[in-house]
Order: sequence, then structure tokens, then C-alpha cells
Amino acid sequence: MSARILVVDDQPANVRMLEAKLLAEYFDVCTAENGVDAIDLARQEQPDLILLDIMMPGIDGYETCQRLKVDLQTRHIPVIMVTALDQREDRIRGLECGADDFLTKPIDDVTLFARVRSLLRLKAVLDELRYRDQGGALAGIVADPVELDAQPATALVVTSEERSGKRFARAFPDGIDADYELEPASAVKRMQSGIDLMLLDLTCPTFDGLRVCARIRSDTATRQIPIVAIVNPDDVKMAVKALELGANDIVYRPVDASELAARVRTQLRRKRYADKLRNRLDESLNMAITDALTGLHNRRFIESRLRQAVESANAGGAPVSVLLLDIDYFKRINDTHGHEAGDVVLKIFAQRITAQLRALDLASRYGGEEFVILMPGSGLAEAEHAAERIRRSVCSELFKLSDELELPVTVSVGLAQASSGEPMESLLRRADAALYEAKTDGRNRVQAAA
Ligand code: GH3
Ligand code: MG
Ligand code: MG
Repeated sequence: MSARILVVDDQPANVRMLEAKLLAEYFDVCTAENGVDAIDLARQEQPDLILLDIMMPGIDGYETCQRLKVDLQTRHIPVIMVTALDQREDRIRGLECGADDFLTKPIDDVTLFARVRSLLRLKAVLDELRYRDQGGALAGIVADPVELDAQPATALVVTSEERSGKRFARAFPDGIDADYELEPASAVKRMQSGIDLMLLDLTCPTFDGLRVCARIRSDTATRQIPIVAIVNPDDVKMAVKALELGANDIVYRPVDASELAARVRTQLRRKRYADKLRNRLDESLNMAITDALTGLHNRRFIESRLRQAVESANAGGAPVSVLLLDIDYFKRINDTHGHEAGDVVLKIFAQRITAQLRALDLASRYGGEEFVILMPGSGLAEAEHAAERIRRSVCSELFKLSDELELPVTVSVGLAQASSGEPMESLLRRADAALYEAKTDGRNRVQAAA
């Protein structure tokens, strides 16, 4: 994974040393010697990661980090703080300023690259979500830490001893409901029930915690859940392996409650932000394929599905049939009761037809008062049967628009089964010709294409 990394340190020798290490691993490097330059560069160059020294004249690393994290243009860039002293207070203060991780000088290469790669992986996921946001629906989503912290969350501690389970669970910050589990298999199962974070003890003698980590990552139901791993101090190999297997963060024994709280908060904030992006994307995707009035699929969507289905039928797959429905004398309803009443009829109509369909069938509003239903796997006889069922369900009961207004509505249906090698356009044309016949034959009828 190549990426652009911004190195910030007031000592030119430190900058050169880090730069050399990163260049040797084929990272693209840019550098700054103070906080103000670093912020400017981060804005202009949009690096994928920032390695930030804490002790600098002028604005120090904390302040620089804080400014980067409130700036909309730079807040998404992960920051690793580089500290000379491994002081607990420094780390907690750094986490509070929004730092994503820490490295202690002198920097150990293995740890450096494990941390860097883990953060780059995370950034790649968020970048991908942003990239897919063609319609710009995500533009308004701000990763506001206050708002993201406000929601309650659940966490599961996985360890082998009841005593440490209780102690770790108590260390979680307020607003997070933490429980513990001593059995790895039950832990994996519990994670599938909507837990927001896992604190995984990798120092347990009774089970292989790395295997639990791998399980959580390979299961689609739990893949996105952050894992914070507990590792023995100086067990660099274990920490690196954990990060490689997808642990999001590491805390060392003995676990400091404030540091754990700060790291957990950072992880949950990130997860919520990613969830929010994902949900918003799903929503905008839904809007693009849905008809707003009826909630059915729209024309664009049904045509793309119809094209696929016809192609697969042509390639020797299951048969495909299509129904074209048109409400009878709909203009009259508008003219007599108003356009709004017409809209309500369209909505009720959509509900009636959906109630008659199998899960596999796709109903869409094709335009005005015309609907298309795609029936994958159905031959002509089966489709005709379904069409007749729909026709009856429409005319058999009045459409209740309000307490005062109930209307009789009928529908005419033309249908066709895709014949071998036939393109989608021709299939729709045949269904339309059948519909025309149904109309001229007196309406409230089903007509199969020849
Ligand atoms: P036929 O039995 O031959 O299908 O007659 P019809 O009146 O249903 O068909 P026509 O195509 O003459 O009229 C369709 C009407 O549907 C005209 C148009 O104003 C109305 N319409 C189209 N879209 C909407 C809509 O979204 N809401 C409402 N209320 N009316 C719509
Ligand atoms: Mg009509
Ligand atoms: Mg029409």
C-alpha cells in the first residue's frame, strides 16, 4: 500500500531519519519543521497520514493536532504523535487532542510500519466511502466528536479470567455499557448481536486471541466492529500481528483506565462516522432507484434489472416474464377528484400489486400511471396467473381515499415472456402491444403477447 506521508519535526535530523525509513518502504514523503507549516501543507497536499512530533517551538504537537482535527479539510487525515517520553499524561492529552496513535522515540521500524499500515487501511475505507458518494449526499456529514460521542454504546471484553474481565469492564468510560466473556466461541457469537466494540485480551494463556481477532474480521456481520487488543509490554511481535489481522488499536498491560477510555472513545467515534457515511450512502443509493410517490423502484432501476434478466435468460438461464400495467381511465380520476386524489390512488395501487408478488418479483412505476413488473424465473402461464391475481385484487375492492371518498379502480395488463435472443426493448414492445389489445378489448383485462 503506497501513500503520501507528512513528517513534522523541528529537528532536521529526525525528519531526515523518518523520511529515509519511509522512502525505503516506497512511501511518498513531504516534510515540515513547525506546526504552522504542517497545517498549510496538510491542506494543500492532502497527505494520507501525518507523523507529528510533540515537542516543537511555536505551536506544539498537541495544538497542531487540535487545529488539524477541527479543520474540515484536514480532520479526516490520521495523525500519529511521536513522543520522546512514554508518559501516560502525554498520551492521554494527545488522544484528547484527536491523535489517532502514538509512537515513542527511538522509533522501532516494525511498530512504525504496523501502525502506519493499520491507519492507512482505515483511511482507505473512509476514502472509498467518500469516493462512492457521487451525488454529494455525504458533503454535509461532519465528524463532530461531541455529537459522535453522545450516543450510548456497548462493548464486550474478552479475556480468560473473571477478575480481569470485571476490572477491564469497569475501566470503560461513562455511556458505554461493557460486559465480559471468558469463552472465545461465545464471545464471537455475542459480537454478532450488535456490540459496538471488542476489547480483546491477547495475553490469555487459555486461548489464542489472534484467532478470535481473525474470526471477527472474516465474518461480514462483525467485520466493521473495532477491536482494541491488550498486549504485554514489549511484545512487539504480538502487537504487529494483531494490527495485521485487523485489530484497530493496542493497549499495553498494565492497562491504564484513562488511556483505555480515550482509545475506546476514538474507536467508537470512527466507527460511528463510518456507519453514518455508509447509511447515508445507502440512503442516496435508494433514492436514486426509488419512485418517491409510491416507494416502488423507478424506471431506471427496473430497466437495468430487466436487461440483466433478459441477458441471463438468453444465456440459457431461467425464463423471464414481464407485466405492463396501466390504470384504466386514470385521467378521469384526476379530472373529477383532483390530482392529489390521483396520487393517493397511485399509492394504494402500488400497495395492492406489491401484496400479490413473490419476493423475487420486482415492481416499478414505469411512468405516470404505468407500472412494470419483472418476474424472473416465471414462464408465460405463471405470469398470466399472477397478472390475473393482481387485476382481481385491484378491482375487487374499492380504493378508500378518505372517509368520504371510495373509488372503483381497474387495471389492464399486457404481458410477455422473453423469447430466445430477444432484446429487452422488443420484449417491452410486445408487452405494450398486448396491453393495447387489453385496452381496446374493454379494459380491466389481462392479455398475453403472441
Ligand atoms: P386509459 O384507460 O386508456 O389508460 O386512460 P387513462 O386516462 O388512464 O390514460 P391517459 O394516458 O389518457 O391519462 C393518464 C393520466 O395520468 C394523465 C396524467 O395527467 C396522469 N398522471 C400522470 N402522472 C401522474 C401523477 O403522478 N399523479 C397524478 N395524479 N396523475 C398523473
Ligand atoms: Mg391509463
Ligand atoms: Mg397511460
